Amino acid sequence: MLDDLDAMTLLGAREGLRAGQFSSVELTRALLGRMEASQGDIHAFVTIDAEGALAQAAEADRRRAAGEEAPLLGVPVAMKDNMNVAGQPCTASSRILEGYVAPYDATVSARLRAAGAVFLGRTNMDEFALGSTTQTSGFGPTENPVARGCIPGGSSGGSAAAVGGNLALAALGTDTGGSIRQPASHCGIVGLKPTYGRVSRYGVVACASSLDQVGPMTKTVADAALLMDVLAGHDPLDATSLDVPVPGHLAAVEAVGGGRPLAGMTIGLPKEYFGEGLDGEVRALVEAAAKRAEALGATLREVSLPHAGYGIPTYYICMTAEVSANLARFDGVRYGLRVPREEVLAQYLATRAQGMGAEVKRRVLLGTFVLSSGYYDAYYNRAQKVRTLIRRDFDAAFAGCDLLLSPVTPEPAWPLGVYQDDPIRNYLSDVLTVGANLAGCCALSLPAGATAAGKPVGVQLTGPNFGEPALLRAARALELR
Ligand code: GLN
Repeated sequence: MLDDLDAMTLLGAREGLRAGQFSSVELTRALLGRMEASQGDIHAFVTIDAEGALAQAAEADRRRAAGEEAPLLGVPVAMKDNMNVAGQPCTASSRILEGYVAPYDATVSARLRAAGAVFLGRTNMDEFALGSTTQTSGFGPTENPVARGCIPGGSSGGSAAAVGGNLALAALGTDTGGSIRQPASHCGIVGLKPTYGRVSRYGVVACASSLDQVGPMTKTVADAALLMDVLAGHDPLDATSLDVPVPGHLAAVEAVGGGRPLAGMTIGLPKEYFGEGLDGEVRALVEAAAKRAEALGATLREVSLPHAGYGIPTYYICMTAEVSANLARFDGVRYGLRVPREEVLAQYLATRAQGMGAEVKRRVLLGTFVLSSGYYDAYYNRAQKVRTLIRRDFDAAFAGCDLLLSPVTPEPAWPLGVYQDDPIRNYLSDVLTVGANLAGCCALSLPAGATAAGKPVGVQLTGPNFGEPALLRAARALELR
C-alpha cells in the first residue's frame, strides 16, 4: 500500500494503520521523503518537522501496540503556517514572525492531536493570508503541482499544493475570502470553508476576525467529512465559536447511495456568478457539474444574489479594516523579529518596515484609511450595511433552494509572476468566493475536471449556516459519478 501513496486517502491511511499494513513511522517517513524532495520546485512547505513528526508517529505506533485507538491515530496531516502547533515555528509566511515558535496549540491543533494525528510540517501561504497566489509569502512562492508553472492559488496555496501534489494526505487551511476554496480549485482537491463559528479560531493568526474560518483540504469528500468530525464544535476560548450540536459529517457522506441520491434537493444557480468575465472552459465544466447534479435527481433553478456586484468592494473594506487592527500586535516587542532602535516608536516603524511585505503594508494602509475619522462613515460603516444586504441575498436564495452551485474562480490558475504587480486584478479574482465569508455560510470546492491545457477547475457548492452535512452529501454524490 505504501507504494501507492498517490492514491492514499486519510481514510485509507487510517484503515491501513488499523489493519497493520504499515506503521505510522513508515507512512510518515514516506511522506516526509516526498515533501523534502519536492521543496526545490513545488516549495509547498515553510517548515518540515521531520524529527517531531517521526517522534509523534513512533508514539502513535506505541499506543496502537498497547491496544489504544483514536480517530486519527498515527495519521499524518500538514498545517497551514498560521495555526499554532506547540513546539513548531508559526510564521504565517511573514519575515516578521521568523524565529517564533508556538508555545501552545491552537484549538484545531489540540483537537487533531487528541485524535492522534501526526503534524508533518507547516505549509506555505500568502503572507498573513493576504493574497490568492502564495506569491506574497515572505519565504518564496509555491508552484502548482498539477498545472506546472502556474500559481497554486492562495492564500492556502502550500496546503493545496501539498495535497494536490500527493505530498501530504490532507492539510488544514484558512478561508477569509476564498483561501481554502480557490487553491483547492486550482490544485484539483476538495476544500471546505465551514460556517462561521463552526470551527474555533483560537490560536490561529487572525487575518480578518469576522470572516476567518479554518477548514479541511483533502483528496476526497469523505476525508473532508472525517476532519470536520474532529474539528467542529464549540470552544469557550473563541467567543465567536457557536454552541451548535455537531452532526456526524462522515456518517452523512457514507449514507450517500447510488441511483438518484440528490432526489428532493433543489440546487440554485446564482445568475450573477455566471456573468461576464467567466472563462469559457470554466463555465462549461461547471455547467456540466450542474447537469450531473440534475441527472442525480436534483432540481436546478436560477436564483439571484442581487448585491453580488458589491462583494469585492465590501470585502476589501471590511477585511482590510480588521487586518489593520489585527496586525498592530506585530510591533517587534512581543513576537518574532525586532529591529532595535532607541526610541520605541522608531523601533515599531523599523521592525514593521523590514518585517512586512508590500501587500501586507497595502492592506494595513487601506484598512487604516477606511477606519479613519472622516472616512469611517463613508467606507467602513457603509460596507457593514452592504454586508447585511449580501447576507440577506443568501438568506433569500436559501429560502427557495437547498444549495447553490457556481464556479469557484472566474479563470483557471495563471502562470507564476503574471499579475504580480496588479493588486486590483488579484482582488477581482475573489469575486465568487467572498460572498460566503461575508454571509457566514459554508461553501466548498470540488474538482470538476480540467481545461484542455490540464489545469484543474473546481465547482463551488454553497450551503446555509450549519448546512455542512447536506453540502458534503451533495459533493459526495457528484464525486461518485
Ligand atoms: N484572496 C483573498 C484576499 O486576498 C482571500 C484571502 C483569504 O481568504 N485569506 O483577501
